[in-house]
Amino acid sequence: MSLVVQKYGGSSVADAPAIRRVAQRIAAYREAGHEVVVVVSAMGDSTDELIDLAAAVSPAPPARELDMLLTAGERISMALLAMALTDTGHEARSFTGSQAGMITDAEHGKARIIDVTPGRIRQALDDGAIAIVAGFQGVSQTTKDITTLGRGGSDTTAVALAAALGADVCEIYTDVDGIFTADPRIVPLAHRIPLVSHEEMLEMAAAGAKVLHLRAVEYARRYRVPLHVRSSFSDRMGTLIVEGGAHFPVGPEQFYDSGNEVSPMEQPIISGVAHDASQGKVTLIGVPDVPGKAAAVFQIVAAAAANVDMIVQNVSTEITGRTDISFTLPTDDAAQVVDALTTARDKLSFLSLEYSDQIGKLSLIGAGMRSHPGVSARLFAALSEAGVNIQMISTSEIRISVVTAKDDLDRAVRAVHTAFELDSANGEAVVYGGTGR
Ligand code: ASP
Ligand code: MG
Repeated sequence: MSLVVQKYGGSSVADAPAIRRVAQRIAAYREAGHEVVVVVSAMGDSTDELIDLAAAVSPAPPARELDMLLTAGERISMALLAMALTDTGHEARSFTGSQAGMITDAEHGKARIIDVTPGRIRQALDDGAIAIVAGFQGVSQTTKDITTLGRGGSDTTAVALAAALGADVCEIYTDVDGIFTADPRIVPLAHRIPLVSHEEMLEMAAAGAKVLHLRAVEYARRYRVPLHVRSSFSDRMGTLIVEGGAHFPVGPEQFYDSGNEVSPMEQPIISGVAHDASQGKVTLIGVPDVPGKAAAVFQIVAAAAANVDMIVQNVSTEITGRTDISFTLPTDDAAQVVDALTTARDKLSFLSLEYSDQIGKLSLIGAGMRSHPGVSARLFAALSEAGVNIQMISTSEIRISVVTAKDDLDRAVRAVHTAFELDSANGEAVVYGGTGR
């Protein structure tokens, strides 16, 4: 008998028939003898609808009340799912995030989990019941107010609960068959990745792959929670995110066993190509090339609470003693950062500032890069053959990222996917539902 945490995204519980279908899937695991904890998202696009409703009532809804409103979405789906499960002949109990022991800080809209005390969940399981938990919500340790973990945060609820309960696996049910070698909407020949390490998945999520919430992956890596990302619309295997030494169910009666290897399977050199079109680029022109200038610049950027991604500083020319510094950041943070830097222009003594949101970032990810030279040469050759100009480059041990013009991004992703022989031999990827909203 195993303990399985299953998370169902909004498209998997979009309406009454969908909720009944999901209940059947859960019941099958329970009938096979497994303990099951279910984390649900709000039905379909209802979180977006609640946000629209709040905006229609007030131009600036208080963060506390917005959180209170949004958590209602998950309450609806959890209670309905418990009802549907009862009809399958199983006892099911639903719990809010607060009842499930999701203790967070007080940052409304982007609260962080600081403790998980799932006593009532454990009790429900001990009583033979299926526990259903509202995703993406918690309660502040200090203010006792209801908080949310940020959009897409139900993944994080599921992984945090799985870690706290010592679950054998955390299954993330969505509307695609798993993690793909690229976004199937851009690369029709993308294929499902059968297996990746936590480390690679973290790089992919950070590089813009949207299937999993970044913080959920960080959490899973820290606590070594095996993840299985799969579709609730089929019984197919999805993507396993796992290290060696794992044994867990992948269906009511089927098990996966990695053996005791550190790396469970022969891994391909490249796992996938991620892209991110939500970044902008700031360039400071003519920054004096003296110690302390970069520190001063990025203190100001950090004070504006922006997460900077790539940074490039040119070699300064001897004649001017000045250099250019460019960095990328989420477009949502750009206005604030540009304002702060412009205000500090005299202190920083740069000559001018340029900002562009017409950029895109492409990242190639693969643990095999470590032991295979020539990956960057092949990447740059593919981009050059596609006529794509590279504006910036950054690398980690298992990732190479480049910034291109936004208009070139999709073409670049397809070219790189082909160049690394990732194109599927047997047809196009299946996307089942969801509005992508
Ligand atoms: N319902 C929330 C959202 O759409 C949380 C989630 O789905 O994970 O952001
Ligand atoms: Mg959602």
